[in-house]
Amino acid sequence: LDLTNAQPIQVGFTAGQEQALSTTKPQDFQAEVNRLMEIIINSLYKTRDIFLRELISNAVDALDKIRYQSLTGQSELGSTANLDIRVQVDNEARTITIVDTGIGMTAAELTKNLGTIAHSGTASFLDAFAKGSEASENQLQLIGQFGVGFYSAFLVADEVIVVSKSNKDPDQHVWRSKADGHFIVSKDPRGVTLDRGTAVILKIKEDAKEFLNNDKIESVIQRYSEFMQYPIYLFSSRKEE
Ligand code: ADP
Ligand code: MG
Repeated sequence: LDLTNAQPIQVGFTAGQEQALSTTKPQDFQAEVNRLMEIIINSLYKTRDIFLRELISNAVDALDKIRYQSLTGQSELGSTANLDIRVQVDNEARTITIVDTGIGMTAAELTKNLGTIAHSGTASFLDAFAKGSEASENQLQLIGQFGVGFYSAFLVADEVIVVSKSNKDPDQHVWRSKADGHFIVSKDPRGVTLDRGTAVILKIKEDAKEFLNNDKIESVIQRYSEFMQYPIYLFSSRKEE
């Protein structure tokens, strides 16, 4: 684990760019996604810090995929040869951002991967989960085993923005949702700012402000991601509270 200072990540949109995004037609989440999000938010509030484990594990998967492609000659690392993960805490903007230089996602992949439940594991987990009942210890363990995935971001965030750039697509795209049943996918009005990879920006809930703290984030990363094959850089762009 390698925690040092690196360059800050730009995460915001100007008013004009917000305007452009707001004209994008929202899409509905698959019904199962809404159900999964509800279960996650209602049953995992005591172990909210797993959001970071899930997002870092997705970053690792994405880095593995681009590394594999580069080794098998299917793809080149290009000017972003560094395979790493950067985590940034911004107290003023109240955001936590997780950036990887992995494989990235096209617009179609953002819609499919972050709008539906593609993997069978989660679907059978949903079936196993008693509808409407409180989670038992067993069920919580089950959740831990399955890995609840990307949607656990909504344990600590009231809005999540994903910015992604894939080698397969000349454009960078933005995915955004407030977990209200809808999401948008739009071409990034800022153009291409990531050479390749994905940035997940969490707008932290009022009652999850404890996570807007580098020491806290560092301890969670140490706990869940001790043996990492890629460096993780943690940095804060502004003064801590
Ligand atoms: P899982 O990791 O079990 O497949 P998740 O809910 O964590 O499920 O993620 C869903 C999908 O979204 C992943 O399978 C992957 O295709 C895509 N994804 C999520 N995060 C990233 C990322 N940082 N880079 C590229 N793809 C991602
Ligand atoms: Mg995952």
